Amino acid sequence: MQKLKNYINGELVEPISDTYLDNFNPAEGKVYSHIPDSGETDVLAAVEAAQAAFEEWSTLPIQRRSDIMLKIADLVDRDHDKLAMAESIDNGKPLKLAKRVDIPRASANMRFYATALLHFASESHQTDGEAINYTLRKPIGVAGCISPWNLPLYLFTWKIAPALAAGNTVVAKPSEVTPMTAYLFTELCIEAGLPPGVLNVVHGLGTKAGQAIIEHPAVPVISFTGGTTTGKQIASTAAPMFKKLSLELGGKNPNLIFADCDFEQALKTSLQSSFANQGEICLCGSRIFIEQDIYEKFKTAFVEKAKALTVGDPLEEGTNIGAIVSGTHKEKILSYIRLAREEGGNILTGGEQVTVPGRCENGYFIAPTVIDGLDHKCRVNQEEIFGPVVTLIPFKHEDEVIEYANSTAYGLSATLWTENLKRAHRVADQLKSGIIWVNCWLLRDLRTPFGGMKQSGIGREGGWEALRFFTGSKNVCIKL
Ligand code: NDP
Repeated sequence: MQKLKNYINGELVEPISDTYLDNFNPAEGKVYSHIPDSGETDVLAAVEAAQAAFEEWSTLPIQRRSDIMLKIADLVDRDHDKLAMAESIDNGKPLKLAKRVDIPRASANMRFYATALLHFASESHQTDGEAINYTLRKPIGVAGCISPWNLPLYLFTWKIAPALAAGNTVVAKPSEVTPMTAYLFTELCIEAGLPPGVLNVVHGLGTKAGQAIIEHPAVPVISFTGGTTTGKQIASTAAPMFKKLSLELGGKNPNLIFADCDFEQALKTSLQSSFANQGEICLCGSRIFIEQDIYEKFKTAFVEKAKALTVGDPLEEGTNIGAIVSGTHKEKILSYIRLAREEGGNILTGGEQVTVPGRCENGYFIAPTVIDGLDHKCRVNQEEIFGPVVTLIPFKHEDEVIEYANSTAYGLSATLWTENLKRAHRVADQLKSGIIWVNCWLLRDLRTPFGGMKQSGIGREGGWEALRFFTGSKNVCIKL
């Protein structure tokens, strides 16, 4: 069985303890590889390598830095099919989704920041004829990058690309649940000639390897994407050490459907925003608010479409919904469906585990689930489920739905459907979310700020925001 390795100081190495964790194929429910169970000593070695590489990498001419990153992007494209297959097997997502979204986005992330760094500029200020101020933006040092399992290579590269582009060296830890594509990526970094120590990848448990990265005094900047509870734990460790922190956390995103929307478009896209990637996208709209006048019509059409989705083998072309990422996560989702029943919800479709015959008979599958009859304040409508489960809630007035939408502790993204331009601006302005989509969903421009309000996080990724995050500013004031 394949054993993955850590990537430290330019080499693929075994964990110092020589202990490994099981890595599951969620569609089959069985172990298919082993990953390093890294600990503090592996992290120490990785941080030392990153510290040693910092001087050279941070002073490399930016064109050279850019060229190396572009080379990595090209290699990701060259291995598109292999990486997509690995992502699908490791995560359970449909292969066609990994091919269309995850892997192209990973190379796009590398390419975007490889070219952005060539255009990154800092400010200068003329102070009344008395002085000139100019601001330098310098790389910070060793960046700690920790990413989740839902979009493994996509989110891993979304962090390391700006960190490296800004001139930092990196110690990264992908989710222990989906380590495979980050491992394959390290092979490509070696092939591309990334200097040793510039990127180091330590595999293992969050509470052990991840925590050791956060605690290390020589890692002054941390970029984390994951759950809100983990984010709190990370903040409580990093804040007293005055580390620079970017936290991209959970969501409970509202999807507002007004009666004056383009009905067919709203219906079609809401199906995607509910169930894409098994609902395991932090931006999925899990609470669908529908204006009373079209509630029954939307409900009937939506449930019919949800029923028609094919839950099945992620490697088959016809599959819409693949496997849930792990047995533990499957149980968490099923527990929320039970809670929905206890809270008085009606399960309109789904609500149960699905057995997919053949090689996937022991896999972790859940039918797309649509629930109505729940109050917007109940736990199912307040807590993140992160699976193929959505609730439908009718509303009468604009003010009412804004209150419902803003009623959770989260504020990551929101979607609204209306053909009324004034309403679109008005509602977008009042929704307490970091990202608002009007008449679309997941339409991404990598230059835009990405991140959440309230308990969905601190800081923004994307565009110049990420390059600013991964640099420290220093102002120089010269008296004229
Ligand atoms: P987790 O918070 O469980 O884990 C995220 C990462 O943190 C993993 O690599 C995990 O390792 C690691 N980790 C866990 N504990 C610690 C610790 N104490 N110190 C350092 N690292 C640690 O999230 P999930 O992987 O379950 O991902 C799902 C969550 O991510 C959802 O809440 C989702 O909303 C959120 N998310 C947010 C996004 C955003 O942009 N805002 C985008 C995508 C997802 P291990 O896997 O080994 O536990």
